[in-house]
Amino acid sequence: PIKAFNGDVAFSDVCFSYEIGKPILQNINFQVHAGEKIALVGPTGSGKTTIIRLFMRFYDVTSGEIKIDGRNIQDYKVNDLRKRIGIVLQDTFLFSGTIMDNIRYGRLEASNEEVIEAAKMASAHQFIKYLPKGYDTPIQSGGTNLSQGQRQLLAIARAILADSDILILDEATSSIDTRTELEVQQGLNNLMKGRTSFIIAHRLKTIENADKILVIQHGKIIEIGTHEEL
Ligand code: ATP
Repeated sequence: PIKAFNGDVAFSDVCFSYEIGKPILQNINFQVHAGEKIALVGPTGSGKTTIIRLFMRFYDVTSGEIKIDGRNIQDYKVNDLRKRIGIVLQDTFLFSGTIMDNIRYGRLEASNEEVIEAAKMASAHQFIKYLPKGYDTPIQSGGTNLSQGQRQLLAIARAILADSDILILDEATSSIDTRTELEVQQGLNNLMKGRTSFIIAHRLKTIENADKILVIQHGKIIEIGTHEEL
């Protein structure tokens, strides 16, 4: 796909409430340069997911503005916007079909070679190769015949193939074995390279490696900086 966004992002005085009179986000201000990794950290209910929902336009800001590449996100077509933003959630949607189908999801025109290339970049190729049916292995709906780590590797491969300009990652909280963990980290690093990435971060390592950390509490940014600065 053609790159639509360079990936500069700016939030200016963004306020939001789901219900009138109950402010959830208050005067959110920050700027991100194309390619930076931003860790969103904060206690449960602080507003991290809400920031992402506004960015994807599942809701619109109550006041203030969000810009991508200097242009208000309300001036883009919602579908164009969402097409160029990739999301990797803690538990990825896998459907019943083969591993090949599941990685290809959303990019039906991709060749088998492109799918395998993406799987290699994602560090998923190793485990797939050792399955008796390899890329033709059928997946049960929900991916219940795979481990959580393997499901994540497929999600990363899918996101690499989708080649979005901006990424949103909801880092897994559950523990996976050390080796898979390393593969997931390697895959994520390849995925994030050169793309603006927002990570709802749970691991110290991720936070340490971020270009910027936004610390959110009660709907406000209480600190912004690198790990060394904070
Ligand atoms: P977590 O780490 O638990 O995912 P979070 O930081 O992502 O939390 P949000 O999900 O953004 O927090 O929630 C922020 C606040 O908004 C919370 O008080 C929550 O109850 C409220 N909230 C979230 N979604 C809705 C909704 N659809 N309608 C009304 N209130 C909501």
